[in-house]
This record gives sequence, structure tokens and C-alpha cells, in this order.
Amino acid sequence: MTLMNDVPVAQLMSRRVTCVAPEESVVVALNTLRSHKLSCLLVQTPAGLEGILTERDLVVHVDDLVSEERLHVNNLGVVRQLMSSPPITVQEDDCLQTVLDVSMRCGIRHLPVVNKLGELVGVVTQTDLMRAYSHILERQLTLANDNERLMALSLIDPLMSIGNRRAMEGDLKHVQAKAQRTQSPYGLVLLDVDWFKRYNDHYGHQLGDEALRAVAKAISDSLRQGDRLYRYGGEELILVLPDTNQAGAFQAAERAREAVSQLQLEHVDSPLGHLTVSAGLASGDGDWPALVAGADAALYAAKEKGRNQTRAA
Ligand code: GH3
Ligand code: MG
Ligand code: MG
Repeated sequence: MTLMNDVPVAQLMSRRVTCVAPEESVVVALNTLRSHKLSCLLVQTPAGLEGILTERDLVVHVDDLVSEERLHVNNLGVVRQLMSSPPITVQEDDCLQTVLDVSMRCGIRHLPVVNKLGELVGVVTQTDLMRAYSHILERQLTLANDNERLMALSLIDPLMSIGNRRAMEGDLKHVQAKAQRTQSPYGLVLLDVDWFKRYNDHYGHQLGDEALRAVAKAISDSLRQGDRLYRYGGEELILVLPDTNQAGAFQAAERAREAVSQLQLEHVDSPLGHLTVSAGLASGDGDWPALVAGADAALYAAKEKGRNQTRAA
């Protein structure tokens, strides 16, 4: 917890301290505690800080007197008899972590704070410490949430608004592990836009971007529940199909290819007249990079055979 070491106790303590002399009567100490609504008094002499008198010291004292049947205003005694001395103090530049450690280790709820010269500068209570501690926890939670949001954002491709390659790799690790555990295959489909360089050259990069967005949306809309689409890179997309054999992957690939073809986006420089994609697929329960390589080889075959079609590994 680095933050715990960033907070000096001087920021947490109360500088409003009330002192009594050790020879002061307990009745006066009681009245002072009560009228100032305090839970402790610092006991000081001209020589320096000598002790600390807490509510608990008084409770114990009064309880002793009661049990000994000696409870009387005149024999309540003086502060020196009750105070904890010498007091356990902390330095004003001690950090929250240090002060919490002292408070827990010694089981004390009030810590006088002194400066380098040993002079009393304040008092810090367990409540002050707990308040600071919970504030830090809250801050850390907020930071963690922000980090999570950034992480999530960095997994999404900004142009296509679908998962990027990093997201795909994370997903595939799980899909592959599950397939190996259950010994049931999963499918991968690589989809590549046909003649897209020509599309850019003819219509310009901006319209090229728009076309890619439309392609990603059309394929997304064609998916069955549980199937995932990622941008593999450039104008290539990949479908991840858990629990899917080769026949199932073929159907998914054909639905995706059909969905793009049906957009009927004009592409005058394509022999097909409109924008299309080719698909290569593979399925199995092996390592995903090998499956991707199989799908890539199948995609190459689909391109060779004339594009706008699906081939299996
Ligand atoms: P093939 O049918 O063999 O796939 O031909 P192709 O022209 O699609 O293939 P090639 O790999 O030669 O060209 C891919 C083109 O996709 C080139 C590249 O500029 C374009 N491209 C990749 N990413 C983007 C993008 O984000 N926006 C746009 N507008 N174009 C992109
Ligand atoms: Mg390509
Ligand atoms: Mg292409």
C-alpha cells in the first residue's frame, strides 16, 4: 500500500489539544473532558509531555474506587495517579501506516504527536486513523475501476467497435482451454475483404473506413449467440465459435459472407461489382495459433478460387 506511506500523520491529527498538569485533581480533569467534549487530555509540565489521560483511565480509576467502596469527591485523587506515563508518541511526519502499526501493536486509541524537538503539536485518535484508512481504500477502489475501464477500452477496436486482436487472444485462451477440457471442438473463421486495396484507391480511405464499419456490423448481426467477432488486423476479421465443429463453422462463415454480400455496397473495381469477403475456416480442439494457420491457408484457397466464398482447412 504505497498510498498509506504518502500520508503524514500531521495531516490527520487534531491540533486542538487540551493539557492538564500532573498534579491537577481528577475532578478538574473530568470537568475539562466533559466541558470540552474530549476523549483524552495530554499531561504536560514545563519540562514537557509527561503523559496522557484517557476516558478509559478514568473509567478504570472510578471502577477501582467503587469496588473498594472508596468513591468520594475528595478521594478521587490527582491526575498523576491515573495517567498513562510515559505516553507513547508519534512524530508529526510519521506516515499513516506507521501510526496505525503503533496504535494496533500497543492497543492504544490516542497518540500524542510531537515534532522533532519533542514538543507536543497535536493528538491523533484511532477514529482519525480509521477515517483516513477508509478514504484511502475508497481511492484505491476508484483507481482500480478506472484501470478496469481503460483496460476494457483498450480491448476494443475504435474503427469497427468490436474486440481487437488482444481481446481475441484473451478469449481464445479460454475457448481453447475449455475445448481441451471437454474434448469438444471450437471453430475459427478468418474473413478478408476482397479487392479492398482497389476499393480504397477508387473511393478514398474515408469511404474505405465506412465500408469496413458496415462490413463489421453486417457480420456482427449475422452471428449466433455465443459467437464472437474480432478485428484480426487491417481488413481481416476473425470469428471465434465455441463448441462448434467444421460443419457448424462452415454455416457461420457462409452466413457472414452472405450478410456482407447482401449489403450490395458498390465496388466498381471488383470483378464481382460489389463489396464481398472471402472466408477460411478451421475447427478442432488444438492450440489456437495452429487453428488460425489452418484457417489462413483455407482463406488463401478461397481467394485463389475466385473470392466471395468459404473454404475449410
Ligand atoms: P484481396 O482480395 O487479395 O484480399 O485483396 P486486397 O486488396 O483486399 O488485399 P491487400 O492485402 O492487398 O489490401 C488490403 C487493403 O486494406 C490495403 C489497406 O490499405 C486496406 N486497409 C487495411 N486497414 C484499413 C483501414 O482501417 N481502413 C481502410 N480504409 N483501409 C484499410
Ligand atoms: Mg488482407
Ligand atoms: Mg483483402
